[in-house]
Amino acid sequence: MNEDLHQRAQRLQAESLVEGIAATDQAWLGQHLRECADCAREAAATQEALQALRGVPVAVPRDLVARTQLRVRLRAQEAGESSRGNMLLWIITGASWLLGVLSAPLVWRGFAWVGGQFGVPKLVLEMGFVLWWTVPALLAVVAVLYQRTIAQGLAAQGLQRETRTPH
Ligand SMILES: [Zn+2]
Repeated sequence: MNEDLHQRAQRLQAESLVEGIAATDQAWLGQHLRECADCAREAAATQEALQALRGVPVAVPRDLVARTQLRVRLRAQEAGESSRGNMLLWIITGASWLLGVLSAPLVWRGFAWVGGQFGVPKLVLEMGFVLWWTVPALLAVVAVLYQRTIAQGLAAQGLQRETRTPH
């Protein structure tokens, strides 16, 4: 019976950190944490870990956004701004950026919750989070490079045709 109470306290604690819990549950949890040193210690440790987790990664993607955007823009300029394919590129870049920014807090809460539940090391969580976040941006960069290669291939073909044409 006692065991059930502690399990309930830990479940409520985890839920309160991720999606929030009802006021009655919150009151029950507070009461239990005041009475039970074990659960209180565990709750404090979880909260501390989550706070540490939340403090770090937001700074990482912001920096990555700026750098990725700059890189994509430079590549696009190299490829030639008049190129019609650039429109698609800007759409991909914009979409990946928006998706990243919009989903980052949500995804991170999910990662933090998994970390709290299963005791996943912080570094693994951070790497997973950054990977999740950068994949769309990386796809955009790949799209730019691919487009540029095609443009260069076409230019080379055009040049060859020109030189072969008899006068
Ligand atoms: Zn307890």
